[in-house]
Amino acid sequence: MKEDTHTEAEIGQTRRKREAIGIDFDGVIHAYSQGWCTGVIYDIPVAGAQEALTLLSRRFRIVIYSARSYDHPEKGQHGKGQKEDMELWLSRYSIPYDEIHTAPGKPDCEVFIDDKGYRFEGDWVKTRKDIERLSSRKWATGGDS
Ligand SMILES: [Mg+2]
Repeated sequence: MKEDTHTEAEIGQTRRKREAIGIDFDGVIHAYSQGWCTGVIYDIPVAGAQEALTLLSRRFRIVIYSARSYDHPEKGQHGKGQKEDMELWLSRYSIPYDEIHTAPGKPDCEVFIDDKGYRFEGDWVKTRKDIERLSSRKWATGGDS
């Protein structure tokens, strides 16, 4: 009989690795300090991003998402997806990931890390007030990522 060579910890680690974390690109990994500008990926990583993703990638699937990653036919020649540019940039800064989500829409993830996220906790009255308050401050940050 073949001996099982996997420890419980290794099996657990494999299971956890299947849990995906969705991470927004602009403003979370790519510093994006000047907003969209000409549309190129021009900035350095956000401080701590490389280290954090290296640690998180040991336990979770890292799914990077961005409107950059897929084509926008409605924008004509300026609507070409930038997945390859994202890959080159992530490689240049040694930022680990499992996948760049390329389909329009939301990837299948347990949690999302996004600079424009709002956590909904089941209370639409509170949510509406929070959103109106944020909007009246012209949102916390600029850009359209
Ligand atoms: Mg963003």
